[in-house]
Amino acid sequence: MIPPDYKCGACAAEGVKLWRGYNESHAELRCGDCAASEQKRVVDLSEGDQIGWSVPAVPDLRGGWWGYTSVPAEGCAWWKALPLRVTGEWKVRGGRMAWLPYAAATRELIDGNVKQLERVEFNRKGGSVALVFYADGFNGEAARRVR
Ligand SMILES: [Zn+2]
Repeated sequence: MIPPDYKCGACAAEGVKLWRGYNESHAELRCGDCAASEQKRVVDLSEGDQIGWSVPAVPDLRGGWWGYTSVPAEGCAWWKALPLRVTGEWKVRGGRMAWLPYAAATRELIDGNVKQLERVEFNRKGGSVALVFYADGFNGEAARRVR
């Protein structure tokens, strides 16, 4: 579940991973793209989850945020499951995440190109979409060739 006020303080993006300042008591939440542009960095989730001085913003459900080194496993899993963006694709450890039209995503799943649909949004304007994970070195080329 995503808290209603979990949105980027700069661009108001919702439903995405957010970062906060490392030592802030009153957290200024930023989406990956805003945190990166403000700090003149690039977001590269294949390298790590920090963006400059910003760390993942994981709510502790008591109105605060988990310290970077004390986020419990379920908090890490919650944050990891959030997409970086609501469109496009980006690198993550071991592969890349990509948003696809739902029909294309299910075809990729059936073809064995992706292992699972990480996230599905049936109510997206313009049609249902799914977030899929493509593992490095496993892009389904072999599966395509046998047809
Ligand atoms: Zn933003």
